[in-house]
Amino acid sequence: MLSLRLAAFVSLSTCAQIAQSAGLLRDSDIEEGLSRLAAPVLIAAGLSPVSTKVLVVDDDRLNAFVIDRRYIFLHSGLILRSKTPEMLQSVIAHEAAHIANGHIARRRQALQLSRNAANFGTALAVAVGAASGSGEAATGIALGVRGSATRKFLSHSRAEESSADQSALGYMVRSGINPMGMVDTLDIFVGQENLVVGRQDPYVRSHPLTRDRMRSVETMAMAHDDLPSDPDMVYWHARVVGKLSAFQRAPSWTLGRVKDSHTEDIKHMRSAIAHGRAGNLTSAIQSIDRALSLRPDDPFYQDLKAELYMRNRAFSDSARAYKKAHDLRPKDAIILAGYGRALLADGKFSRALDILEQARVRDFRNSALLRDLGVAYSKLGKHAMASLVTAERYALRGRIKDAKMHANRAAAGLPVGSPSWQRAQDVIDIR
Ligand SMILES: [Zn+2]
Repeated sequence: MLSLRLAAFVSLSTCAQIAQSAGLLRDSDIEEGLSRLAAPVLIAAGLSPVSTKVLVVDDDRLNAFVIDRRYIFLHSGLILRSKTPEMLQSVIAHEAAHIANGHIARRRQALQLSRNAANFGTALAVAVGAASGSGEAATGIALGVRGSATRKFLSHSRAEESSADQSALGYMVRSGINPMGMVDTLDIFVGQENLVVGRQDPYVRSHPLTRDRMRSVETMAMAHDDLPSDPDMVYWHARVVGKLSAFQRAPSWTLGRVKDSHTEDIKHMRSAIAHGRAGNLTSAIQSIDRALSLRPDDPFYQDLKAELYMRNRAFSDSARAYKKAHDLRPKDAIILAGYGRALLADGKFSRALDILEQARVRDFRNSALLRDLGVAYSKLGKHAMASLVTAERYALRGRIKDAKMHANRAAAGLPVGSPSWQRAQDVIDIR
């Protein structure tokens, strides 16, 4: 998606360790690439690539963290700094090891203990209430804005770090990934120990790096430093980094570098984003069509084409392109959300509502989706439902007072005891 739709989570201001602009970057293509990169190490860790997802936090500072078995969070800055798939896979392997070795379970106990002291109650309830029973990811983001308590929750001990390193190196070697990627990643952080805290990357604070740790990783990795790169992983890594940078850097920066792209389709995809962001729709569509001619069944290039039309207010063209992307990848919640948004903009309110609800059921963690859903309900005169999704959107963003106001309005207009009424109560009950 061109705007890399920001699914803003709780942004309770104050002392943000993780989340200055606490938000996730939701892009189907990037998440697919990360999921492919993660799959071999997750399997080696005994985790399921289907149930453990990698999500991108919109933050330039280098960090990676886990809060439960279901999500590994990577900062966009860390992804952009990775030069090889192995570097990124080493980070994912290390976080997977924190999950597999039970460090998260201990974190969660610590959370119970510190809940009152650190005023976690609100943040937890925000997540739980907004998520309708599935709010653990949001919890972590919420915790992320709670300064010192967050550090305690997310920080690992030195013993945990060395155990995670050893496990991660094992996962990499077992899945045929060159473990020197971990040495390359740790090299980024070497020396940061001595910086004042404000100049350190958050990763260094939560994952203590010592000379001993670096030495033992090096020794273990060296024994397998001849493993070749997997061309498929090199492709997806180049695609993820190429897309993310095209979104985040100036269009002129991207256009000056597209010729160095790993493959022709990635080159055209990056050009399309840069032209689109520069307001040149014709060139953007030409570029994405070239990428599509090389990969005709690629749902993500179709999704990007739809987004480019959307950005230029060609709503029915956009809806048509989204329909193609959706047909190629019917269960994708982010594509569904885009499709619904295009239908909404094109005035097809009932169809839009149907598609947006399908997206919400699959993945609520998208505040742009909730906003569109509120508009769709309003257009169709379903004001209580519009208030409900507006309440949930505010709750997701940590704006509790606004959330409760809308939830009360929703509850008054919904049948008592109905599932929607219950969702409103979840928001009202936030403490
Ligand atoms: Zn760690």
